[in-house]
Amino acid sequence: MMEKSFIKQTLSDNLNLIFDNMHRACAMSGRSADDVRLLAVTKTVDADRINAAIDLGIRQIGENRVQEFLGKRDALNLVDVQTHLIGHLQTNKVRQIVGNVQMIQSVDSVRVAQAIDRCSKELGIVTPVLVEVNIGGEEAKSGISPDGLEDLLCRMSAFDGIHVCGLMTVPPILHLESEKRKIFSKMYQLFVDMRDKNIDNIDMKELSMGMSDDYVEAILEGSTMIRVGSALFGQRQY
Ligand SMILES: *Cc1c(COP(=O)(O)O)cnc(C)c1O
Repeated sequence: MMEKSFIKQTLSDNLNLIFDNMHRACAMSGRSADDVRLLAVTKTVDADRINAAIDLGIRQIGENRVQEFLGKRDALNLVDVQTHLIGHLQTNKVRQIVGNVQMIQSVDSVRVAQAIDRCSKELGIVTPVLVEVNIGGEEAKSGISPDGLEDLLCRMSAFDGIHVCGLMTVPPILHLESEKRKIFSKMYQLFVDMRDKNIDNIDMKELSMGMSDDYVEAILEGSTMIRVGSALFGQRQY
């Protein structure tokens, strides 16, 4: 009992701090507070703590791994909660996740997009997705390169089992505020460029960027959805 209320108090304090920072960043950049949504990243977090966060008002959660999410899902109180897959998705896992989350944020190839399209049509649904961009051009990271983005979007526009709602990125780890803002600003520019192309069946409404160490900078540069894990739940225990 004591343990539970302690967890809830800590979560509540963390959440208040994050909301304060979000509101301040929105105010600083002349944006409305409801332009930006908070997605709680729940990888490695147990169901009790996720439910405590949901009790406190979290309405979007994001998981990295298909297996981990499906394993926890039945223990979660997901009424009115939207679930997102944010980790790299392999083609052979697509069938297990389509229909089980509200959005897949990590599409970075025609192959995966096509697999999602096919499964969605079988289920008679349209799956909302974001295209993940490797904005820093890092070798080991997933995501399409900025140069390949337009071509990928054009090919995806033919798939009517998916609805592209915008872009997602995990930038390189940077330490200076100015560097963080620069990379997010580059991402925002790419987002605007793609929006201006008005590609059929492709919406550019959501820009998912910003994590525990850089969500303020991401909001200042135009993020519409921040994905926060450790600043909410504490350091992850792997
Ligand atoms: C883990 C993860 C996050 C959250 O990271 P924190 O630094 O703990 O906030 C956000 N996005 C993705 C894709 C992640 O894998």
